[in-house]
Amino acid sequence: MPPPYDCQACGACCATAPERNGYVRLYDGDLERLRDSGLPIIESAEQDTDPPETIAKLATKLDPHGHRVCVAFEGGVGGACTCLIYDRRPSVCRMFEMGGLLCRLARQERGLPV
Ligand code: SF4
Ligand code: SF4
Repeated sequence: MPPPYDCQACGACCATAPERNGYVRLYDGDLERLRDSGLPIIESAEQDTDPPETIAKLATKLDPHGHRVCVAFEGGVGGACTCLIYDRRPSVCRMFEMGGLLCRLARQERGLPV
């Protein structure tokens, strides 16, 4: 049985490295669902793909504790938090299963207990 984490007191998978101005990759279906969301979306030039490509990502911001987080994240990492677009969140966000490997790695990276 997976550990009983509380996503609304975590948010580790919504946080990213301090220097990243884009986080969550958006595919065509995501862009369609989020078209009217008003959320800032950036075009990111990826140099480590072959050939190099430009991809859409949700922008980032700082949470109240200075963690860089997805722009759709509300609250603070490791405290009360939520996703403002949970019902239409991007496909990559749906890959994070609470208690799964990606979840535990994200928590570990943010210094939360695993
Ligand atoms: S899926 Fe895991 S890392 Fe993401 S908010 Fe939930 S408990 Fe935290
Ligand atoms: S879209 Fe929602 S679930 Fe996905 S990273 Fe942003 S805040 Fe987290």
